[in-house]
Amino acid sequence: MAMEKETILVIEDETKIADLIKLYLEREGYSIYIVPDGEEALNAYKEHHPDLVILDLMLPGLDGLEICRLIRQSSTVPILILTAKDEETDKVIGLSIGADDYITKPFSPKELVARVKAHLRRSKYWQVQKEEILGDERLKINTGSRQVWRNGIEIKLTALEFDLLKTLASSPGRVFTREQLLDLVWGVNYVGDPRVVDVHIGNIRKKIENDPSAPELIKTVRDVGYKFESLK
Ligand code: CA
Repeated sequence: MAMEKETILVIEDETKIADLIKLYLEREGYSIYIVPDGEEALNAYKEHHPDLVILDLMLPGLDGLEICRLIRQSSTVPILILTAKDEETDKVIGLSIGADDYITKPFSPKELVARVKAHLRRSKYWQVQKEEILGDERLKINTGSRQVWRNGIEIKLTALEFDLLKTLASSPGRVFTREQLLDLVWGVNYVGDPRVVDVHIGNIRKKIENDPSAPELIKTVRDVGYKFESLK
C-alpha cells in the first residue's frame, strides 16, 4: 500500500506567497490546499483534515487569530502562523492561543520547509508514546491519554505545551537548556528562535502554576534553562 501523502492547509490571501509555499512543499511530497479567505478557512479545515496548518494572520473575512482559536477548540493539529515584522504582539497572542510556531515574513522557503518537517515529525512521534503517569499530587500527567490534572482538576494544554511539559516532567530535577528542549520537542532540525521556548513555558505556567510569577513546578535556572521540580 502506498503511503498516504501528508496534507497541509495554507490559509493565505497573498497569491504570490501562497504559490511559493505550495511550490516548495509539493516538491517535498506534501498535498497542499490553499484558502485565500478567512471565512472559507474553517470549512476547508473540516473538509481536508490537514496534518498541519500554515496560517497567515492578516486575512480578509475572519482574522487569523480567530481561526487559530477556533481550530484549537477541537484539534491538536500543528499550526504555524505567518506574521509581518510589525505584528510582534500578534505573534505572542498567536502562541498563547494555541499556535505552535511562527515565521516572520519575508521568510526563506527552505526555512519554512524545515519547520514544517519538524512539526510533522514531532506530531507523529508524540502520537505513539507509551502510557506513563508523571508528576506528583500537585500536577499529574498521563502520557498515554495526554491528560493533565492540577490539584485533581483537569486542565487543557495544546499539543506542543503538553510535549514540552512532558519532556521536563520525565526527568524531574534535570536542567534542560532551551536548545535541548528545541531538539527534544521541536526536533533536531528545527531552526527557529530559542525564545519560542520561553513563550510556551510562560503559557504553560499560566495554566499549571498557582502563581505564574513565582513558579513552583517549572523553575527557571538562571542563564541555563528550565527544570521540573517534583515533590517525589
Ligand atoms: Ca495576508
